Amino acid sequence: MEIILTAVAGPLITTFHSKINLRLVKIMNTSWEQLLDLKDSYVKKVHKIEGFGWIVEVETIGCEAICPRCGQKSRSLHQNHYSFARDLPICGNDLWLRFNRRQFKCSHCKKPFSEELSLVEKKKQYTKRMAERVVRQVVS
Ligand SMILES: [Zn+2]
Repeated sequence: MEIILTAVAGPLITTFHSKINLRLVKIMNTSWEQLLDLKDSYVKKVHKIEGFGWIVEVETIGCEAICPRCGQKSRSLHQNHYSFARDLPICGNDLWLRFNRRQFKCSHCKKPFSEELSLVEKKKQYTKRMAERVVRQVVS
């Protein structure tokens, strides 16, 4: 997977630095979403920090979440919780996702809960695929 990421990211870096027009930015965002295999979120902004790596801001699509206690859907946003998760490296540079794990309030239970995200498990500072990669390296 890292080889694929490197191959796709090369032209993206050039596009990102050129900042020619919105159309290119849109193409770049779409490519980043494909690159990161985002299913329930989209890329808001991409930062390349020299000597550090990439920070990709992602935002969840949709405005509701399912309460883990009762299974009811909630659209009542309680709080935003922004945090970072380390993802697979790209072009030999570290990549961190900045994401928002929204907290909703359940109208049935009357209690707040944090939404589930496909990329990052709760209370983890690394993505699921990063964890899988580390486990594979340890096992092999
Ligand atoms: Zn509930």
